[in-house]
Amino acid sequence: MKIRQISYFENFKCLEGKCGETCCMGWLIPLDDDDIARYKAEKSVLLKTRLLLAMSEHSVPVFNSSCGECTFHGKNGLCSLQLARGHEYIPETCRSYPRYYRNYGDFEERYLDLSCLEASRNLVRHADELMITETEGPEDCEKTMTNDDSTFLNTLVSIRASFTDALQKVRTYDELISVLYAIDSYSADLQNAYLHGDESYYDMHPFGVELSGGPDSSGGPVHLNNARHIFPLSAGEVDSLAHTSLYHNRLKKTNPRLYELFQLYFRKYYRDVASENGWKRACRELTEEYPETVKYLRAYYSYYLYQYWLKTYEDYSFLRNARLGIIHTSMLLLMTVMYVKKHRSLSPEEFAHVCTVYNRRAFFSEDLINDMYRVLDQRCEGAFTPTV
Ligand code: SF4
Repeated sequence: MKIRQISYFENFKCLEGKCGETCCMGWLIPLDDDDIARYKAEKSVLLKTRLLLAMSEHSVPVFNSSCGECTFHGKNGLCSLQLARGHEYIPETCRSYPRYYRNYGDFEERYLDLSCLEASRNLVRHADELMITETEGPEDCEKTMTNDDSTFLNTLVSIRASFTDALQKVRTYDELISVLYAIDSYSADLQNAYLHGDESYYDMHPFGVELSGGPDSSGGPVHLNNARHIFPLSAGEVDSLAHTSLYHNRLKKTNPRLYELFQLYFRKYYRDVASENGWKRACRELTEEYPETVKYLRAYYSYYLYQYWLKTYEDYSFLRNARLGIIHTSMLLLMTVMYVKKHRSLSPEEFAHVCTVYNRRAFFSEDLINDMYRVLDQRCEGAFTPTV
């Protein structure tokens, strides 16, 4: 099968005991049938007792049901199960993490999930040019989609490539605002076209944007108007998002660094960013003081498209799938603004850390994602509220 993967996928190496945001804390660890069979067959009575005591029933059997620290996470920062019995012995979830596989039938895609610190560090390192490599090989997972319309799938891949090509050309904050607006508008147009049965929209109107350097050679239907934009979301919208279950008190235990960033927002710097002008000024000042932020956010949104745009293959929700990425990029920007206000610095490492703690919370609950998307309900297609 054709395998497409982020270029550094094979070189991933866990930071192990040196990880500053270990994945052995803050998660439920689901166990599959093979894991359970292996643990029930454990010969050492002591280890078997620990394993069985560590298991609890959620919707599926899990380790670490309290979402605190996994009971097998040792003081040296390493997994005591892995040390005792080897990598093949630990739960499948832990073995494959942070590798993210999607089998679309015609090809499989592989990424590293940004909830892992080393995956975010890799993103930041490769932010200048994210590359997808293509090889042939055996697939790693079962087909994850039920759709088998290859033409539609190929169209979606082409649309994604045109979006990421445009993002790759972004150099300034204003260009990022423009390109995200263009992607959002184009996705709304696509949605509308498909709703009316026009499946040739992309062929007839390929995506293209004009940046300051002149018209993109691909041409395109999108006319930019910086008086109307979607990124960053308005101050009111990011505040509404901060009041979803994205933030809650248990983060203090499960994701303390994200908890601290939200505390900075609610308790210390809220007044600075509560008004539309204050929020927009804070974003602009950040990108002026730390221009690399534009590159990181551009890469972050591109990576989001790589991981999630092809959900459209299943749900035909062009606009939702483009816009959720803009929601996440706006919230990551808010968290970064908070971080810099407190620490007065933003190294690549620091940005990667903020990215990790945000992604660890924001991407793993469909209910939360639906609530976050609902915040934008008042934005109707083609009727964006002017925010500058
Ligand atoms: S978050 Fe990533 S780098 Fe850190 S311990 Fe987990 S897999 Fe390793």
